[in-house]
Amino acid sequence: MDFEISDEQKLLLGVVDDACKKIRPIEDEYYLARKFNERVPEIFKKAHLLGLPVDKKYGDGQGADALTYALALERIGQEGTGVRTFLSGHTSLGQLTLQRWGSEDQKSRYLPKTTTGSLVMAFALTEPSAGSDPASLVTNFEEKGGFFYLNGEKTWISNGSIANLVITFAYPKGKSDGMCTLLVEKDFEGFTSSRIENKMGLPTSDTAILRFNNCRVSKDNLLGVRGKGMNVAYSALMSGRLSVAAGCVGVAEDCLSEAVRYAKERFQHNKKIGKHQLIQRMIAKSSVELEAARLLTYRAAVEKSKSDGKPDNLDLRSAADWWIAQAKYYAASVSFKAADRAVQVFGANGYSLENRVARHLVDTRVARIYEGTDQILEQKIALNQLGPEFESYS
Ligand SMILES: Cc1cc2nc3c(=O)[nH]c(=O)nc-3n(C[C@H](O)[C@H](O)[C@H](O)COP(=O)(O)OP(=O)(O)OC[C@H]3O[C@@H](n4cnc5c(N)ncnc54)[C@H](O)[C@@H]3O)c2cc1C
Repeated sequence: MDFEISDEQKLLLGVVDDACKKIRPIEDEYYLARKFNERVPEIFKKAHLLGLPVDKKYGDGQGADALTYALALERIGQEGTGVRTFLSGHTSLGQLTLQRWGSEDQKSRYLPKTTTGSLVMAFALTEPSAGSDPASLVTNFEEKGGFFYLNGEKTWISNGSIANLVITFAYPKGKSDGMCTLLVEKDFEGFTSSRIENKMGLPTSDTAILRFNNCRVSKDNLLGVRGKGMNVAYSALMSGRLSVAAGCVGVAEDCLSEAVRYAKERFQHNKKIGKHQLIQRMIAKSSVELEAARLLTYRAAVEKSKSDGKPDNLDLRSAADWWIAQAKYYAASVSFKAADRAVQVFGANGYSLENRVARHLVDTRVARIYEGTDQILEQKIALNQLGPEFESYS
């Protein structure tokens, strides 16, 4: 498989690199102040990166394929999981889901504005009592006239309090039909949000609780087929997981290069610590795992592109789903281990939040929880090998 980067991709990655260099000092400042970094969307907007994988016919969409987008997220991941999470919520879970399932009317109403930053997107599946088992969610709606009246609560939603457009999942009251997907605007009556504070990491990323109190949603805002919301959720999670995998590759790369830099500078026992073989072992492990995670992620991106080209082909979809699950599962664990080793190489100097490797360690931990926990992905990956009769939920 050829992962050679074309001149066009190089050009785009140069733009991404410039934006990342602008973000770095600002992210340092906001992280230490433990504040949401509201300047990140603005920098991506100015660099025309808010609609990277969106079709060029919608506003500032750049039409990047899955591999190009993954390469961009890999670079962005180096700046921190909080920065990358903003884009995953807005683009992978938000825009790509709208682009895949939206009617032409919905796409032309919303997508161009999302690419220019006047609309920020979020994806709201998780509820206080429904995480790994989204089918058990309890948010529901009643139909009156031309409207759905939505009631319920979502939690742990990335971009939740900054988003103007939220992809939301709910059942018709009494579960008279399957799950449905609704496009909810921030300004719709009965919609409120509040930021979740005191997270273990990701202080610069917005995470929120959303509440719907008889929230009035026009029937024109039903996304995809009525009663088939689980299909929408699963396709969103495929895009989202790939973005997490790519971001984690970036985290692992940053941790490795920081560890190597320090190992070449720091002296203990009359030699550079890079000359101690036990330090070399940590660098070797991170190096091998990084390259393996990177290859798995690129392969998953290629499989996703194939599936995106033929969205009704179930074989291509299930192959992409499996590759993406493996890439996300593996890259999340690799980034955590690379961050842990980098902190170890730095010693006490790695224990300060002023050092990016310490921030990577606490921040990348979330990649083993959101968009499919390690355990859920292990079952998904194994099921593909064992066959559907080994479905563990039945
Ligand atoms: C910072 C952050 C941002 C997030 N952003 C979003 C977002 O934008 N949108 C959104 O919808 N959600 C978001 N989430 C929520 C996230 O997707 C959920 O936390 C995740 O799906 C797990 O659900 P849970 O936390 O309820 O854990 P639970 O599902 O309650 O799981 C608890 C434990 O039980 C295990 N477990 C559960 N079921 C099984 C099983 N069948 N077999 C074996 N083990 C099992 C899990 O692996 C886990 O270890 C975010 C979470 C965080 C922390």
